[in-house]
Amino acid sequence: MQYHESLPLEDHEVVITFDDGPLPPRSTHVLDILEHECVKATFFLIGKMARNFPDAVRHIRDAGHTIGTHSYSHPLTFHRMSLERAQFEINEGIASVTSALGDGTGPAPFFRVPGLLRADGVERYLASRNLQVWSADFLADDWTRTARRRCIRAPCSASRPTTKGFCCSMTSRSKPWKPCPTCCGS
Ligand SMILES: [Zn+2]
Repeated sequence: MQYHESLPLEDHEVVITFDDGPLPPRSTHVLDILEHECVKATFFLIGKMARNFPDAVRHIRDAGHTIGTHSYSHPLTFHRMSLERAQFEINEGIASVTSALGDGTGPAPFFRVPGLLRADGVERYLASRNLQVWSADFLADDWTRTARRRCIRAPCSASRPTTKGFCCSMTSRSKPWKPCPTCCGS
């Protein structure tokens, strides 16, 4: 959505990501569905929520999913905040998830900017720390009030005709969703 290039995925390959968690029981519900469908995803966790729900962080890890970070408190001002503040948000988010994991490991070096509100200085800082910025090719829009059914199909419909890409969903705000038969039925 923000960059000229995406990763060279195979046709019909969709990378599913969930932002803004963990928030039981919704994140637990998402994990149950992913397990049922034998699907692995990447979760971009908020540090503050990881501190509130460390068991949920470990649940995501133990289920075999990838964990990245999504700042400490999810401010929607990354494009205009001071670099010092951005550094705090990035580093405290990572520290919080690391603490929640509790096994001496940390999250994957993947970061998604809240609201995708990127800034050159922030990206330079992330690069200096060998942290990879993740955007998205399309949004599931499952955080909207009317998307309960539409969001189920968004990863398929939005990605046509290539039917591949990075899909961004929300863990915390979405209503419980079901897998799309087009994506998961084969
Ligand atoms: Zn977010």
